[in-house]
Amino acid sequence: MTDSPRHLTLSLRGWFRLIAVGLVLVVMLGVARFVMLELAQFERAAQGMQAVGKLRVALVAAEMVSRERGPTNGVLGDASAGDPTLRAALSQARARTDRAVADFQRVLSQEGDNPRYQQARRDASTFHLALRQARASADQQASQPWAQRSPPGIRDSVRGMVELVPRLAPAITLFADEAQHSDPRLAASVWGARMSAELREYAGLLGSLFTPALTRQEPFSVEERDAIERVKGRIEELHHLIGLRVGQGNPSDAILASHAAMEQDYFGAAARLLEAVQAAGRSDGRYGLTPAAFAQQYVPRMDAILALRDVLLEDAERRSAQTRDQSRESLAWLVALTALLLGLVLGMLHLTRQRIILPLSQAAHALHALGSGDFSPPLPVARADDEISAVIGGIAALRQQSLARIELERERDKLIETLRAQSTTDFLTQLPNRRAFFEAAQAEMARAQRHGFGLVVLLMDVDHFKRVNDSRGHTAGDLALVSVAQVLRQSLRQGDLSARLGGEEFVALLSHCSPDAGVAFAERLREAIQAQAVDVGAGQEPLHLTVSIGLADSLHHGHELDALLACADDAMYRAKRMGRNRTERARPPADVSESARLL
Ligand code: GH3
Ligand code: MG
Ligand code: MG
Repeated sequence: MTDSPRHLTLSLRGWFRLIAVGLVLVVMLGVARFVMLELAQFERAAQGMQAVGKLRVALVAAEMVSRERGPTNGVLGDASAGDPTLRAALSQARARTDRAVADFQRVLSQEGDNPRYQQARRDASTFHLALRQARASADQQASQPWAQRSPPGIRDSVRGMVELVPRLAPAITLFADEAQHSDPRLAASVWGARMSAELREYAGLLGSLFTPALTRQEPFSVEERDAIERVKGRIEELHHLIGLRVGQGNPSDAILASHAAMEQDYFGAAARLLEAVQAAGRSDGRYGLTPAAFAQQYVPRMDAILALRDVLLEDAERRSAQTRDQSRESLAWLVALTALLLGLVLGMLHLTRQRIILPLSQAAHALHALGSGDFSPPLPVARADDEISAVIGGIAALRQQSLARIELERERDKLIETLRAQSTTDFLTQLPNRRAFFEAAQAEMARAQRHGFGLVVLLMDVDHFKRVNDSRGHTAGDLALVSVAQVLRQSLRQGDLSARLGGEEFVALLSHCSPDAGVAFAERLREAIQAQAVDVGAGQEPLHLTVSIGLADSLHHGHELDALLACADDAMYRAKRMGRNRTERARPPADVSESARLL
């Protein structure tokens, strides 16, 4: 039984549960994949934004370090050694640098264990040391009286300041790289901003290279000329690269306008100024300009470069914010769609379960029970006029038919039982009839012969019964017969048989009974009947009956039922003849033949 293959198959409900879980899992997995992709995109966009912010901080730090050079040079070149205005300008510039550098360092310290950041942090700490040294050197020079200041000492201090900015380059490159990596669309703006900052640095450097010759009002030295050419070469290179970057990636109007302003201000007006100063520097050194006048014209022209840098940074920030907003929006859409899809799938599964699986499984259970005659399992309730409701209706009809058939079978069995009883029972007295008596009596006679016990047969006929009918009516006669039967039934022991043979004639077969005991019984019966007053209805005299009884026994008359009955009948007629209301024993067979001979 346990090996039956039925146990290995999955029920429809089981399959449905499996499919439902699988379907929901597939939906969830697919959605999870999309959500993860979108989340990664969103995170990258946020990282891109952060990287652009960090780049701005780093570029501002570089700008401030570069700007600090002006006031430093001012103090170094201050012949009066202690001009409070110049000192105030320097400490203001230094405070600005310190704030920017502190911001920069805070940004660097954020990225825990990232190895690239560790390198950038190391570079930043050497930058910090170098800044302190450069400032100390400048202060040391400035604290000396003008006459004691040595040109190489001043040059060293200036170089110390100039060499600071390149130390920030690795961090700047790192941030730009990070921004581009997070969002390739930022590349043009980020690298454009980075190169603009570098261009500003070189432009500043170029300006400061002109200052010594302007101060001296002499032509450039060979070294100065070389240095100027190198820086100009780098500036040209950056100019070209910025032009390329700005042209890339669908530049905004603000970028184009800012780029045009830089072309006009720096590569137009400032370049012409530089050209004129350089021409004088190459020939006779008659510049017609003081360093201050040069700075006054040159420095403001460089602002356009920083303006381009800022516009490009803003563009990068705008683009990364756009990317972030887009991915946030698509994430929201995805979540909404997922909820909808999941809701739909779950709704469909629920509907299928409620409308098909559960009713079908319940119907199958009911049908199976119906096969084994069990009508108790409830039938599912049809929720719609569909195929399932037809199945349920079919099962209900089948159940109805089965019930009707069972009811019919029950009625038939009852009828058969009634007929069987009727065929063996006398309808008036409810005693067994002649046929039933003969069947039972023959079996008992056989038993008596086999086991050797005695039997007595007793025939009893109501005396002058015709008169009862005639005088009191047929109904009273019937009642009298019923009361005689009742007395007879009550007088018998268990195992004795009795019957109405017909008319007003009754028979009894006494089992395990001797002839004398049989006579005694017959006498008691006869007396009991005689003593009985039969009630035949209100207002009527009760009836009194007597009976005549003839008796034969197996000991004297054998074990043949017909023969015994004939003997008893014989004795009964003798009782009639001898005046009725009496019991007569049948004579032994010899006596019978004797009396026959006498007759
Ligand atoms: P005896 O003493 O010689 O037996 O006289 P009797 O009148 O009893 O005998 P008889 O055979 O002449 O009459 C029998 C009557 O019993 C005739 C019949 O009308 C009546 N009888 C037979 N069967 C029934 C029955 O079922 N119901 C009624 N009421 N009467 C019956
Ligand atoms: Mg009679
Ligand atoms: Mg009779």
